[in-house]
Amino acid sequence: MPVKQLLSRNCGKIDPRNIDDFIKAKGFQSLEHARSTMSPEGVIEEVKKSGLKGRGGAGFPCGAKWELARKSKGPNKYLICNADEGEVGTFKDRYLIQNDPFSLIEGMAIAAYAIGAAKAFIYLRAEYHYLKGLLAGAITQSEQKGFLKGLDIEIREGAGAYICGEESALMNSIEGKRGEARYKPPFPPTSGLFNEPTIINNVETLANLPLILGKGAAWYQKLGTGQSKGTKLFCVSGDVARPGVYELELGSSLWELVDGQAGARDIKLVQVGGSTGRVFPADRLDTPLAYESVLGSGAVMVLDQSRDVVEFVHRTMKFLNEESCGQCAPCREGTEVMVEILGRLDAGQGVPGDLRTLEYLSQAMMLTALCGLGQAAPLPVLDTLEHFRSEYENRIGQAVFIRSLKALGA
Ligand code: SF4
Repeated sequence: MPVKQLLSRNCGKIDPRNIDDFIKAKGFQSLEHARSTMSPEGVIEEVKKSGLKGRGGAGFPCGAKWELARKSKGPNKYLICNADEGEVGTFKDRYLIQNDPFSLIEGMAIAAYAIGAAKAFIYLRAEYHYLKGLLAGAITQSEQKGFLKGLDIEIREGAGAYICGEESALMNSIEGKRGEARYKPPFPPTSGLFNEPTIINNVETLANLPLILGKGAAWYQKLGTGQSKGTKLFCVSGDVARPGVYELELGSSLWELVDGQAGARDIKLVQVGGSTGRVFPADRLDTPLAYESVLGSGAVMVLDQSRDVVEFVHRTMKFLNEESCGQCAPCREGTEVMVEILGRLDAGQGVPGDLRTLEYLSQAMMLTALCGLGQAAPLPVLDTLEHFRSEYENRIGQAVFIRSLKALGA
């Protein structure tokens, strides 16, 4: 596996509780360089040139988003670090926070300088409560050493809702409202938190900034593919011998990521991007890990031949149905009906027409659901219907056969 150590260069090498260790490893040099030699617009230009895209899943160009916020008028501007890493099988942000919290703080200070924010939030996943002390310590030490220069970074903890990883629901949560997605537009860079210009970047996105400002956009540009620059942290889990976080250059193939893992010989499928991610059968592992093809949150879950596809998709849909915020009917009702149909199929009681209903429903949800959860929830259903259709059909065939026998009194 062609592993890189750029983003993860400090992980396991410095004491994450000691700012002096980070400083010895050239920490905060990029921030100082940006503040002393570049205007905020210059920083934005450099980030635009680097081609950095958001690492949370949506993949929006980072610099373009910042430019909008920089130009937007408002008495206050906010920066939010999305550390609500709730996507199934995703644990890379936890890895970064746990091993190198100062790179995140440095990245936040660079972003705040660029957009003109004096107040920043880290929205921390409820389950990561145990990391709050470590983060708070890193913020305090950075303040004491004079690196924050008046930037106030506050940690807010989530309450365990998956939907609060979605940026507008996250902002509602910080404002003390129910965590529900907002209608867009307006978009956060023009009207976000408390209706002020707001930038929301994921932990991994922000942790890229010291690298880009330190080594330059030209250097960063050389990593990756045409539309996908840099490296990415991938979280490998499931039927593999060595689950964990791996850093690879964007454009590497799925196979390069899972090759060499004992047990990977009999892969049945790989799901990329979490519970709403795309599903690839074993003969499609040459797919590049890039924004052009597939990426999402960085979760890569491997299922071997012993796994049942219908059971896997049924379980995934139950999770999404439970986590749907219920605000819009296509997702609230759509996931409910999908759970019912998939449950019937999983129990071997499918009826003719179930697969067509799943396909129609998927199209309707993708077109009409309000946020990414409902829009992407059908993807695992559609992908497995395409690649593993016979497993679904068998569940209907068995059910029809048994019903026929019962009708005949056998
Ligand atoms: Fe809520 Fe689902 Fe609608 Fe998103 S798509 S707003 S999670 S009900």
